[in-house]
Amino acid sequence: MKSVYDAMWERLNLDLDAHAALLEVLGKFYGDIYLSQQGRLKGMEYIDFVISEIHGLRIKELQEAKAQGRKVVGTFCVFVPEEIIWAADAIAVGLCAGAEAGKERAEEILPRNLCSLIKSFVGFKLARLCPFFESCDLVVGETTCDGKKKTYEIFGEHVPMYVMEIPQMKHEADKELWRKEILRFKEKIESLTGNTVTFEKLKKAVKMLNDRRRVLQRLNDLRRHHPAPISGRDALLVNQISFYDDPERFTQQINKLCDELENRIQKGNGAVPENAVRVMISGCPMAIPNWKLPYVVESSGAVVVFEESCVGSRNTRDLVDESAETMDELIDALVDRYSRIDCACFTPNEERIAHIIDAARKWNVKGVIHYHLNFCQPYEIESFRVEKALAREGIPFISIGTDYSMEDLEQLKTRVQAFIEMISA
Ligand code: SF4
Ligand code: SF4
Repeated sequence: MKSVYDAMWERLNLDLDAHAALLEVLGKFYGDIYLSQQGRLKGMEYIDFVISEIHGLRIKELQEAKAQGRKVVGTFCVFVPEEIIWAADAIAVGLCAGAEAGKERAEEILPRNLCSLIKSFVGFKLARLCPFFESCDLVVGETTCDGKKKTYEIFGEHVPMYVMEIPQMKHEADKELWRKEILRFKEKIESLTGNTVTFEKLKKAVKMLNDRRRVLQRLNDLRRHHPAPISGRDALLVNQISFYDDPERFTQQINKLCDELENRIQKGNGAVPENAVRVMISGCPMAIPNWKLPYVVESSGAVVVFEESCVGSRNTRDLVDESAETMDELIDALVDRYSRIDCACFTPNEERIAHIIDAARKWNVKGVIHYHLNFCQPYEIESFRVEKALAREGIPFISIGTDYSMEDLEQLKTRVQAFIEMISA
């Protein structure tokens, strides 16, 4: 079907036919998983609109900003300090990697036994399916796992690539390295944009992104209520959209959504039945449109009330200290905030286990579903330690390894339903 955006997509060199087919599949998928939910919040209309325009209006906005001289910088990981990008008057966008489309193209230049996330972002670029990629003046990678690290060497032949070195431990020397990496990144962004990152601009960007984290914290806190006032699917979607939308607009809209949630809670209404079993999903991030597991969980009679993930609490739990009075202090505040991320790429990574247990108690979950993408060594290996720690606390646990295909859907349903039955007993 023709779209009003065809001319723009053509200018961006997308494969128009393949792209139209992708949008059609996604639209259908979205209808089945999201629009079919009963008693959805009014505020989710905004999210539905953003999703329906994610390759349209949002890309048009980016193109208009570019025409005025602004740069667009794409990132894959929450470790990349977005504050620096916004402070240089550039626009940061998360590069989604949650679908199988383009997998065959990716496997032409990469081994098959890599996680779906890596194959997805490479596949989207090679198959010319993603207008975000085509809008980027710079793509920022990071050394969080070997798969990504080595892929960026090959991927750099296809996109303007910059790689940040992320420390793997949290000693003073690692923080020193990270501080230097942030400064090197600042120089890179300054030379890309021709703008200087001043203390005032950085402070403003810190406040803007903290506000975005604060509203997501607010949303998460409201999910502690029983019955859950929002489905896990919708909450995940809000988190996913935070990576693409304009941060100020997003914060404003999600605050409105939270007002609506508070209203609902006051009336004692939930988004799900009173007896829906409360569970947490913990592990790898879930990029758009990776909704398979939450969908399976919630159509099996449970509700996801917490995501221990980078598309979830790991990205929003910690704020950057806003009290800095000098540039040096502000950079230290960034170093400190980002060093608190408990990604499984760190060793040791005790904080993550403590955070999972703490959240399981606070959000009153009956079980933890540990999720990793197949071939993701950091999260799959760490799941053994998470399991042991949760067993000591008497919290039921199941480990799910999957990919972006639908081939294992029935098998997933069987395993998840058995787990939910067990924890509901
Ligand atoms: S899980 Fe680790 S590598 Fe992935 S986005 Fe989070 S911090 Fe980055
Ligand atoms: S899911 Fe795991 S293997 Fe894949 S990019 Fe993330 S950390 Fe690396």
